[in-house]
Amino acid sequence: MNYKEHIRVIHDFPQPGIRFKDITTLLNNGAVYKQVIDTLADHYRGSGIDLVAGPEARGFVIGAPLAYALGVGFVPIRKSGKLPGETIEAGYDLEYGKDKLAVHKDAILPGQRVLIADDLLATGGTISTTINLINQLGGDIVGAAFLIELIYLNGRDKLQDLDVFSLVQY
Ligand code: IMP
Repeated sequence: MNYKEHIRVIHDFPQPGIRFKDITTLLNNGAVYKQVIDTLADHYRGSGIDLVAGPEARGFVIGAPLAYALGVGFVPIRKSGKLPGETIEAGYDLEYGKDKLAVHKDAILPGQRVLIADDLLATGGTISTTINLINQLGGDIVGAAFLIELIYLNGRDKLQDLDVFSLVQY
């Protein structure tokens, strides 16, 4: 499947100089969206995953259906101030911006095997922060799955020992 055909590149969004990979055109196509989730699920089936964790908002679009396909729970990683229960937080830099992420303290038990999922790996800031949160809770991170990886931003280098899997590279 040539996923790139279904991803729209928008120049100068949300800031001048950014070539934004718009996945809404891919999500709009049921057969292609299903293929993405099924391919990721096939890759991780049998790896003993207990939970999939995804950062908002596009991490939900990949992570939640992936968790469903694997028959495991989903852990939402949210922007600070959105989760109603007791949380832990960590800060991060984006490709274009800064923010804080949070997770419920009781969402991951020590030793649970957690797969991270997001739509896109850019600088790796979002995923580093997600790793930080999961580590704080004692989760055992199995790897990180992405629809898209922006190779030219070297996000993998920041995620050293992590097993990174992506379907499309730019
Ligand atoms: P990172 O933290 O720099 O790796 O950026 C990854 C996060 O930023 C992901 O959660 C993406 O949703 C978002 N992001 C960064 N660049 C793009 C893009 O070109 N298209 C869609 N999302 C992007």
